[in-house]
Amino acid sequence: MALSEDLLNILVCPVCREPMDLVWEGKGLKCRVCKRVYPIQDDVPIMLRDAAKVEE
Ligand SMILES: [Zn+2]
Repeated sequence: MALSEDLLNILVCPVCREPMDLVWEGKGLKCRVCKRVYPIQDDVPIMLRDAAKVEE
């Protein structure tokens, strides 16, 4: 099951509080501002600064 639009709309980057977009074919959430990508494991976004990778 994919993340719902509603959930996506309320998720924000924990670092800068900005909205995020799905990346990695639904396996990651990328912040529009700081470019961190948070992994999604078993449909659960891992919203931890230390779990994120910065991507250009
Ligand atoms: Zn951010």
